[in-house]
Amino acid sequence: MTPSINPDRLWQSIMELARIGPTPEGGSCRLALSPEDRDARLLLLDWCRPLNLQFEQDAIGNMFLRRKGREDTVPAVAFGSHLDTVPTGGRFDGIVGVLAGLEVMRALHDANVTTRTPLELVNWTNEEGSRFRPAMMGSRVHAADMTLEAALAMTDDQGISVEAALRDSGQAGALVPSPRGWTCWLELHIEQGPVLEATGADIGIVTGTMHARYFQLTVTGEPSHVGPTTMDRRRDSLAAAAEIILAVERIALAAEPGGRASATWIENFPNARGNVANITRLHCDVRHEKAECAVAMEHELRAATAAVGSRRAVAIAIDPYATFGPVTFDIRLAGLLRDKASMRQLTTRDIIAAAGHDSVLVAPLCPSAMLFIPSVGGITHNPREYSTKEQIARGAQVLLDAVMEMAD
Ligand SMILES: [Zn+2]
Repeated sequence: MTPSINPDRLWQSIMELARIGPTPEGGSCRLALSPEDRDARLLLLDWCRPLNLQFEQDAIGNMFLRRKGREDTVPAVAFGSHLDTVPTGGRFDGIVGVLAGLEVMRALHDANVTTRTPLELVNWTNEEGSRFRPAMMGSRVHAADMTLEAALAMTDDQGISVEAALRDSGQAGALVPSPRGWTCWLELHIEQGPVLEATGADIGIVTGTMHARYFQLTVTGEPSHVGPTTMDRRRDSLAAAAEIILAVERIALAAEPGGRASATWIENFPNARGNVANITRLHCDVRHEKAECAVAMEHELRAATAAVGSRRAVAIAIDPYATFGPVTFDIRLAGLLRDKASMRQLTTRDIIAAAGHDSVLVAPLCPSAMLFIPSVGGITHNPREYSTKEQIARGAQVLLDAVMEMAD
């Protein structure tokens, strides 16, 4: 019996997982290492139990579910994505990659097929970076892009550390995070953009990613009373931050279509009615298909903040805290995905990923590739995020076909 994807089972699993951390608008909120994230992980383990997978977990909480091969000592073929979401998350970002991987395992199990190499399904910790920065934390630590110690010490807005969140959610595994010597890595993901839908392609072959540069900006002014302090004497950090937020947007608008940028997070002190703010922190990132253009966008950001700082007599410190990409994915693996799609009469289109993905961190460790399925309306990080059952099943089938070839 030839293994094949069961579209209904895969869809039902996605819908069942979405019930953990539901939001009123029909999306999901499962911040990394929250009780909801823990429950999603436990459900994944429940689903894996009848498949006889061996479960291993590392100290940053990354989950590895291993299926034995006929030659069990050869390097595994690995695939997966992430189950955590942003606060306004949908039901598909990351989840599709993990549950399509689960469906690959289920299809092989149903067909009683044992591949030559072992297989590993992976759920990476804190891909989104909404609660703890930086994004792709689990795969960063796995790939030694960040030390375990540095990751464990990061805190959320309530002052809870990654270390405490791992402990409280029961997700601190025994393994020392390190590369696992995989044959290759494959990640199925929703596009999160409008290109596949607009061009009518079934499958996006991701050839590489943008280069992104992340910053924390700290604006320091002077606290004062909103009444007696005349306008010319104020050193208002919040007003300065407002100008910077708009400058980031202007820089991005000028860098389209290759570039993007936004300020996304703000913290304001004393954040008190009646007080002119004196410390405001912002997070933003600039990203571009061409690395040199992302660097140029950073220069523009620095020039804009310097201008705001001197005009408003506030100090602005810029702290770069993470980058990703640019990455070029493995050409041979991308070709394999293209072939497998066309053998299923699916149309493909090459595409550059504008979002960060765990695959960016895995790519230097072993041959890696990503495939995208369409996002209806290009909507993502939004409860209205949607891909159809058929679109998801097509992507999962291509993943299964590619896994079977690489594992034999
Ligand atoms: Zn994602």
